[in-house]
Amino acid sequence: MTSLPLISVDPDARGRRPSMPPRHLADLDLSGRQALVTELGEPAFRAKQVSSHYFGRLVRDPERMTDLPAATRERLAGELLPTLLTPVRELACDDGATRKALWRLHDGSLVESVLMGYPDRVTVCISSQAGCGMACPFCATGQAGLTRNLSTAEIVDQAVYLAGVAASGAVSGSPPRLSHVVFMGMGEPLANYSRVVAAIRRLVAPAPEGLGLSQRHITVSTVGLVPAIRRLASEDLSVTLALSLHAPDDELRDELVPVNQRWKVSEVLDAAWDYAATTGRRVSIEYAMIKDVNDQPWRADLLGRLLAGKLAHVNLIPLNPTPGSRWDASPKPVEREFVRRLRDAGVSTTVRDTRGREIDGACGQLAAAGDTDGDSRAATA
Ligand code: SAH
Repeated sequence: MTSLPLISVDPDARGRRPSMPPRHLADLDLSGRQALVTELGEPAFRAKQVSSHYFGRLVRDPERMTDLPAATRERLAGELLPTLLTPVRELACDDGATRKALWRLHDGSLVESVLMGYPDRVTVCISSQAGCGMACPFCATGQAGLTRNLSTAEIVDQAVYLAGVAASGAVSGSPPRLSHVVFMGMGEPLANYSRVVAAIRRLVAPAPEGLGLSQRHITVSTVGLVPAIRRLASEDLSVTLALSLHAPDDELRDELVPVNQRWKVSEVLDAAWDYAATTGRRVSIEYAMIKDVNDQPWRADLLGRLLAGKLAHVNLIPLNPTPGSRWDASPKPVEREFVRRLRDAGVSTTVRDTRGREIDGACGQLAAAGDTDGDSRAATA
């Protein structure tokens, strides 16, 4: 009989096996942190102190936590703030107003986040999974498949880290305070439901429990997992829902967003309207404009009929190029006609800017693969 090794001896495979990260304070609410600190033999109020550093002052270096006794600083920070994200690379464009960060997670998985500065606000686009299992053929993340779900703290830490970058004044011409978070990075947020909802709770809880963002400034973007949309509507949260529709008819949507084979356009829109009714929030309908694929005038008219009179806003996204994709963005005149028809149908419509295209940081371009060289050099373009 041959005995097979239980653990792969291939060094490459060994280093890359995905596993969940160590526990971090952002995984817990304040009472959970207090219980943990007590278990560690420290007074419960230390939980609030460390939380204030992390969420309130955006400080994670124990040396700077001078209100903690020197002897316990290292240990508490080690227990409550283990390193989750190691920056591998940072790329900037738009004169520094757009920055893409590539992170290595504790198990070697790679994820990306994007920081975008505007005159009146600062937005971070964060990832909820390493990779994605939804397999949309025009999205770079979808091509590689799912590696694993991110933990709550891995999700939150992307926003906290980039809030610190913004606070340092790195985004010139923008306010220093992070104001908006969009779950439009890698992954399908509603496929990692409980961790994403916990992450939202941390993002909106006032400091020191959380980052103190407004619920209305958080957007969760989904391919349309109907039961999860309904569940999200039942949470006491009123975050903005973005639905990646991309086609108004099942025949095409079955191809562009394969999960449509499970939940059809009519079902996903029903869930979206129920979400809007429950939360009072306008649903954002995302539609990537793909040349000769979904940009025909009749599809604009059909979309207009589906959305007319609903609490909805259409966000057209010029298709961003992804490696190996056979598709192009629609020509501008075609895009303008599409907008005109939607507006004629009474549907509020805007065209999204293509922030971050040059650094592959725009929608659908986050792949975190191939060009990583494994060191921690920070290359700033
Ligand atoms: N899985 C979620 C969130 C991540 S994608 C979702 O699909 O909604 C964020 C948005 O970028 C989605 O609307 C997605 O469909 C869109 N997108 C993906 N690839 C794109 C591309 N190549 N060009 C333009 N938009 C793209």
